[in-house]
Amino acid sequence: MKGSEFPNDLARRAAEAVDPARVQELAQGLVRIRSVFDAELGTNETAAAEYVAEQLRALGLDPILEEAAPGRPNVICDWAGSGFDVSKHRTLMFEGHTDVVTEGDPAKWRVPPFEARVEGDVLHGRGSADMKAGVAASIAALEAVMRVAPELTGRIRLGIVADEEGMMLGIKHFINNGWADEVTGAIVAEPEENEICLFQKGAMRVHVHVTGVMSHGAMPYAGVNPVRGLADFVVAVRDYERREQARLGEHEFLGLPWLTPTVTRAPASGEAQLNVMPEQAYVALDIRTVPGQSHDEIEAELRAIAARLEAGTERLRFDIDVFESRPWTETQANDPLVRAVEAVYPAVLGSEPRYGGVPGATDGTFLWAWRSIPIVTIGPGDREIPHQVDEFVRLSDTVASARLYAAAAVTYLASDNG
Ligand SMILES: [Zn+2]
Repeated sequence: MKGSEFPNDLARRAAEAVDPARVQELAQGLVRIRSVFDAELGTNETAAAEYVAEQLRALGLDPILEEAAPGRPNVICDWAGSGFDVSKHRTLMFEGHTDVVTEGDPAKWRVPPFEARVEGDVLHGRGSADMKAGVAASIAALEAVMRVAPELTGRIRLGIVADEEGMMLGIKHFINNGWADEVTGAIVAEPEENEICLFQKGAMRVHVHVTGVMSHGAMPYAGVNPVRGLADFVVAVRDYERREQARLGEHEFLGLPWLTPTVTRAPASGEAQLNVMPEQAYVALDIRTVPGQSHDEIEAELRAIAARLEAGTERLRFDIDVFESRPWTETQANDPLVRAVEAVYPAVLGSEPRYGGVPGATDGTFLWAWRSIPIVTIGPGDREIPHQVDEFVRLSDTVASARLYAAAAVTYLASDNG
């Protein structure tokens, strides 16, 4: 503990009850499990979820495993203090995910990616930062709260879900099964350098198919070239991006909005041939949004661009499919959960609260967007390290996160809801 004062004695005791050796054991235990989802190889989150459930059963808790998809279980576990009354009191969710992205070529790693080797303060391995350290910190924090606050007037709901790195099936399943309904606030344990993140960038994923009329390359006038339509569309989207950037400026924590073409193909499928003007071309857009933008308006603008281009060229057609939409999120600075995290921050971290923004969507996006749950994203690990080789996390940062979660939880849950 550092010099600053805790806002209450229970917060101090909860923070102190976090056992660093236990945090390390949990983080290493999780990193050793290769929870990469790969349908072809048959690997998934099952073993990691079982590991989490075992740890919770050892505490006398009763975790529930629910498959979001075959072999892809969510772990859900409630603990409530003896003073808890659901009609009056708060439920704080600790949110995390068990899946990790692929390690790629293991030979490129200095330390084998699933050895979970510790060197000094550093734990190496795929998923160490994103986000097995965060999951370990959440479990350790729950243990600490159970130990020091048996009579707490609140509930902690651990939601450690599958498929954050894919389509976020886990958190969607969790919400659709009603688990989010009584949650009044959530701490999302993603690697954010232990900065308090109240904003997350939004994302839209879009397929665009441009259809023209196929013809021989020697007689382009006999057809309609979808490649030109695609090019015009890409340029128009760039102009729209510039207008949006000029309109919104740079967000303090999220930067600029972007509409980025990431994949182009012509023909849209099948073999390309130099002397054949294809019937169809394809472009994918990766759109990143900030507060002040509406995903509906963005989609409408894309359709308006397409309509203008269709009007300018006979027999040219655009099909726009927004197949994923993850809104930006913005948690109010005066939310009681934010206040609780800020109140314990200086004593745990030894500095005034530091703030950041989440560059991508997380599971928290859907808690916020679908159920209006205030979320605070904060956890151990460098923001840039996930998905790279030689991923690592500092154990001292992980312990600090666990202490912060525990102290914030008892502070937040000590007050009535409303
Ligand atoms: Zn993550």
